[in-house]
Amino acid sequence: MANEPRNPLNLGLAEGVRQLGFRKWYERELLSSHAHLLLTILSAVGLLGTLEAMDGSSAQLKLVNAVLFIISAAIGVWALRRYLYLLMHAEDLANQANCPSCATYGKFSLLSDNKRDSQIKVCCRRCNQSWDINY
Ligand SMILES: [Zn+2]
Repeated sequence: MANEPRNPLNLGLAEGVRQLGFRKWYERELLSSHAHLLLTILSAVGLLGTLEAMDGSSAQLKLVNAVLFIISAAIGVWALRRYLYLLMHAEDLANQANCPSCATYGKFSLLSDNKRDSQIKVCCRRCNQSWDINY
């Protein structure tokens, strides 16, 4: 799961820390996850709309609404799973972002990316302490 090909809008942790810094990367992950939550809510509205439209319609329109219902449900399930994944992943990494020496949050530089072990080595920008973050 850690090295899965990601959405081009969501940089991986190492690339994100390298390009943006951890705090910006984390902020983008949260924004992206909440965009997926919004999509989940919109698909729920779509589900209710298709149910409402089925009432008193012809058999052909009921079939179209049934297809739209299934599509809305599939999008909603996908968006909810993506929302939860992005949120939990970002929170898991945020819990490892405090420097073990000076407790500074999220201010570190990337030293190395060990993709095989799904781990990055980072260095505190304040006190130069290094530690590993598992992703
Ligand atoms: Zn430090």
